Amino acid sequence: MTTFQDFALPEALQHKLDALGFDKPTPVQERAIPAALEHRDILGSAQTGTGKTAAFSIPLLTKIMNHADVYGIIVTPTRELALQVDEQIRAFLSPKSKIRSVVLIGGASIERQVQALGKRPKIVVGTPGRILDHLERKSLDLSEFNYVVLDETDRMLDMGFIPQVKRIVRGTPRKEDRQTLLFSATFTQDIMNLARQWTFEPITVEIEPERVATASVDQKVYLVSSRERFSVLMDLLKDPAVESVIIFANRRDQVRRLYEKLRKEGVQCGMLSGEITQAKRTKTLENFKSGRSKVMVATDVAGRGIHVE
Ligand code: AMP
Repeated sequence: MTTFQDFALPEALQHKLDALGFDKPTPVQERAIPAALEHRDILGSAQTGTGKTAAFSIPLLTKIMNHADVYGIIVTPTRELALQVDEQIRAFLSPKSKIRSVVLIGGASIERQVQALGKRPKIVVGTPGRILDHLERKSLDLSEFNYVVLDETDRMLDMGFIPQVKRIVRGTPRKEDRQTLLFSATFTQDIMNLARQWTFEPITVEIEPERVATASVDQKVYLVSSRERFSVLMDLLKDPAVESVIIFANRRDQVRRLYEKLRKEGVQCGMLSGEITQAKRTKTLENFKSGRSKVMVATDVAGRGIHVE
């Protein structure tokens, strides 16, 4: 079994991993970290949640901490993802570290970004449009950025960002003189063409997407007419074996109607949707998690990613 110790990371970084509870590398890290430390280009098919951010950040930080002449640029399709990547990188650095990471995203002050770039950060994370803005203003010069990460490339393609990404990549050293790590959930012909253009003798790291439902979940489907739907639901809720229930609906108005109907039937329940204020949502979720309320009705969007034992 591979451990992080096997990678002989800088001591400060290893300490951080320990403190963060990174006990062992995830599959994508196990394959990508040693390859990236050996300066290989990577085509990775890992998705969000597999630990891919750390898979490309740890080798980059290792090189920088070992005083290699490395500058890293990470291009992501969305602002949220850019912030998340930056957050992960900062979590690996001690507050006293001199290594700087700058986020370049739209909707944020460009002047402040220009100032931060003036300090020659080792790492830049951003979305294509804003990175290109900086290239055009000449507040960013990528000719020394020899560690290039293209994150969620398929999404950048879907969102129409490839022309911008092409110009960004063109600003970096030639592919033989840089390291390129290209991640994508899928490898369609279009992505493969870009990969051929941008990478040099890459190795492929393919990680199976995690199964959506875990093996321990027993799944049942009831085929019912819309007239029967509510009474089937009520029967389920009355079953004493059923302790905690989330009911998903597609839209906010459906959530509200169902919530009101359940209340009328005397079901103790909460509601989670975009039309509820954040404070109320937090309270609802707390009640549900602690078991004070047995039932929660939610839109799939509002209910996404919440963790309940
Ligand atoms: P990502 O797929 O990069 O979005 O990472 C998903 C989450 O897993 C993040 O919160 C990481 O901090 C965390 N993570 C990544 N690698 C490890 C690891 N080896 N051990 C524990 N947590 C990890």
